[in-house]
Amino acid sequence: MANKIRVTVWGENVHEKEMPVVAKIYPKGMHGCIADGLAEDPGLEVKTATLDMPEHGLTEEVLAKTDVLTWWGHAAHDRVSDEIVWRVQTRVLEGMGLVVLHSGHYSKIFRRLMGTQCSLCWREADEIARHWICNPGHPIVQGIEGRYFEVPQDEMYGEPFAIPSPDEQIFIAHFEGGEVFRSGGVFRRQNGLIFYFQPGHETYPVYYQKEIKLVLKNAVHYIAPRGPLWKDSAPHIPPEQSPIPITKK
Ligand code: ZN
Repeated sequence: MANKIRVTVWGENVHEKEMPVVAKIYPKGMHGCIADGLAEDPGLEVKTATLDMPEHGLTEEVLAKTDVLTWWGHAAHDRVSDEIVWRVQTRVLEGMGLVVLHSGHYSKIFRRLMGTQCSLCWREADEIARHWICNPGHPIVQGIEGRYFEVPQDEMYGEPFAIPSPDEQIFIAHFEGGEVFRSGGVFRRQNGLIFYFQPGHETYPVYYQKEIKLVLKNAVHYIAPRGPLWKDSAPHIPPEQSPIPITKK
């Protein structure tokens, strides 16, 4: 298939190495599972990158060949170098899509792109999460049957979620304990689209679930760049080169 969307799945890959319970659920790493789910779509070309690789696996060359980057991080946000964060931010502003997953809400890249603290309430209590669809016509929810889907066990994330209002609200979640949370939203920053999606605590097999895989595939297609990149430039246009000079009367 021509013109496949090139996806780089980035994983912090720390819990998988340090917590046996996580390694058991995700023997190929969370990034490996997320990548396998996306790779079921023949329209996607999927690669992975992790924190411990040189330049966190996000070299200029890799990012230049990435249409959509997905980001899962939690324990090591501070270990992501500012230089790489700046590089990813620049690519998003130019037009690369970014999917930020679960605890990635506190990553440097998400906080920088949002411009807010991105804090929230949380609780680990094996709760059911019910994610309500806000717009049944939105491309990201196509294929989900019914008005909501449920994750049988996940961490509770609750409001207030310190983000700017999303440009498009896709899901609102409701947890067993009663809290609600804006669990899926799309943001535009310059020429790039960002999708934040709440499910995916590391001790539950969330990324194997069919609805989650479906949403991620839909999101990658939705936020992939559809036109030329917007490269940063601020050219000086001398008066004689004005496209349509205004003549003084
Ligand atoms: Zn979590």
